[in-house]
Amino acid sequence: MSLVSKAAVLDGIEGQFHIREYEVPEPKQGEFILRTEYAGVCGTDVHMYYGHLNTVEYPIVMGHEFCGKIEKLGSVDIVDSNGQQVKEGDRVVIVPGVSCGECYYCKIAKTPTRCSHVQAYGFLPNREPHLLSGGFSQYVHIKYENTSFFKTELEPHIAVLTEPLSICVHGFQRAGGVRFGSTVLVQGTGAIGLGAIAFAKRSGAAKVIAVGGPKRRLELAKQLGADVVIDIDDVKDPQERIKLVKSETKGGRGPDMVVECAGFPGAVPEGLSYLRDSAEYIELGHFTDVGGVEINPHWHILRNNANIRGVWGSDVEHMEMTLSIIEQLELPYDQLVTHKLPLNRIGDAIQAMSKKGYSLDGKEEVIKIAIDPWQALANQ
Ligand SMILES: [Zn+2]
Ligand SMILES: [Zn+2]
Repeated sequence: MSLVSKAAVLDGIEGQFHIREYEVPEPKQGEFILRTEYAGVCGTDVHMYYGHLNTVEYPIVMGHEFCGKIEKLGSVDIVDSNGQQVKEGDRVVIVPGVSCGECYYCKIAKTPTRCSHVQAYGFLPNREPHLLSGGFSQYVHIKYENTSFFKTELEPHIAVLTEPLSICVHGFQRAGGVRFGSTVLVQGTGAIGLGAIAFAKRSGAAKVIAVGGPKRRLELAKQLGADVVIDIDDVKDPQERIKLVKSETKGGRGPDMVVECAGFPGAVPEGLSYLRDSAEYIELGHFTDVGGVEINPHWHILRNNANIRGVWGSDVEHMEMTLSIIEQLELPYDQLVTHKLPLNRIGDAIQAMSKKGYSLDGKEEVIKIAIDPWQALANQ
């Protein structure tokens, strides 16, 4: 008997999510069917909902941060990207971006995130040949050639964090890593910012400063390694925050590295103003286009000798590194997913993360929402 999959289909920009059912195809040679356990709702999904990513076509089944168990293999000889044989029932994490391995970016520049023919689970229009290609669905058809994935023993509510946290790893790698004994400041305390805090501390930073909010996120920031937290609700004036940040660094010079994970344009000139001379600024919060901001090149960049690193998404190696770190379970990553919701509450998740100030149902503070496509649909 063939399987049927419920999926949440977004019909357009600021549209509706419809729960539709699709027949699950038989996987061909080299393919498999994944039974989704969790799919994270990402800031990027929020921006895709509002139409801030110009490559997206609707209708779409989003969900690029997902993990699950292999339901059905198309052939017996399938290995994960670490070369481990997989079998039905194994838990795996899928790398959403699939690069071609052949184009200029893949072969010569070796920046596969910019692949000319990139395909990505959770970003493709929901029509043939891309049906069941996003994580907001009970089953995902893992079928694109060169798809990378990793087998893991992690609990699914932690495994689902691999993709968002891999963005931080990519950022640190572009800046040449965290220097031992340095001061790292992270702007933004969403899931990616919290990951950057944890990884900065684990990489040898002596002091980690977090600028963000609200309160619950800052509490978790401390548990994950932040030595100082600055609540933007308490210190509303950016100039005041710049002074405060400087005062937290040796000689008042400013942090050695600032990682922008807030995704608000105004965070960029503010973050550049925190920096000490010749320090690193890692920009990874603006995956989508939320508008511009005025920068003063003299003060923000030249006078500081600022090293600015742009970071677009992440690649297979970053996912592998991230999974290896979180599999050690040294830090409370399990607290990042605060809510698990059914498919028909994705719209509520998006509202919580955009218009409702990270509160769900008028009260609870959200850090990361994971969709469990097997949870009974909510009455609406
Ligand atoms: Zn994401
Ligand atoms: Zn390519």
